[in-house]
Amino acid sequence: MSSSELVCRSMNIEPNLSETVKAEFDAFCGYCGVELKEGDAVHLLKFKKSFIDQNLCADGSSKYACPHCNEIMNRSKFLLPKLSTGIFTEQGAYPVGKNTNRAYFLKNPPKPPFLFSVNIGQSQHIVWKAPVNLSNEVFFVQLSNHVISINHKKLMGTVKHLHKLRDIHSQALLDDWALNNKKPQQIDRDKLNPFYFLGMKGDVVGTYTLCSWLKDLVESELIEESELAEFKQLNWGEAWLLNAACIENEESNVKPETFTY
Ligand SMILES: [Zn+2]
Repeated sequence: MSSSELVCRSMNIEPNLSETVKAEFDAFCGYCGVELKEGDAVHLLKFKKSFIDQNLCADGSSKYACPHCNEIMNRSKFLLPKLSTGIFTEQGAYPVGKNTNRAYFLKNPPKPPFLFSVNIGQSQHIVWKAPVNLSNEVFFVQLSNHVISINHKKLMGTVKHLHKLRDIHSQALLDDWALNNKKPQQIDRDKLNPFYFLGMKGDVVGTYTLCSWLKDLVESELIEESELAEFKQLNWGEAWLLNAACIENEESNVKPETFTY
């Protein structure tokens, strides 16, 4: 199944066939590469002037586009972050614009096939080029123009490790307050992020560094430096998603409602 077809299915979008023609010969959709047979209802492939992803097309010289791709490309709403940021499954489309929603799906990856897309940049069509995931053990996320790969077991192992380090940090704070006769304060564990580098928009790329509270744990001899090695085995995409995956608040355990077109 192509990305475009899965996205259409997830939102119950029936492709409009009124402007199709009958394929004169067997071909492939220029965008997604789905097979088109002679006589199938197809659209003549015509790139818009603003389209700059010819290099990502299955066959940019194809004469035809499939009805699903045509539907996505002609609906300008798919340019918006709201509709190009989501988890698209056969059971529905779910929002992942918020970190807490992202956290839910990282803790509970959907049943394949699914598509995970996050549009953080300018308005652009990205869902058609997002890989369809056939596994939730290793899967891909379309992050604007990047495709990042996630090893789920590795990511969740690091989440568990981070939670343990949060325990150590929190206990050290409590001990310190007790020792100095200070009133204990609320500790917001979700503010103890592993990496500095990115906000929701993921705009700073490739420069992830560990947050100071983690380095302080080493300096205070509460943990060994080797305890931080686990973070370094993450690829950039996994590190980017770790900040969401490690969220512990209530909302991150609630499956978000589906959204429609
Ligand atoms: Zn197509």
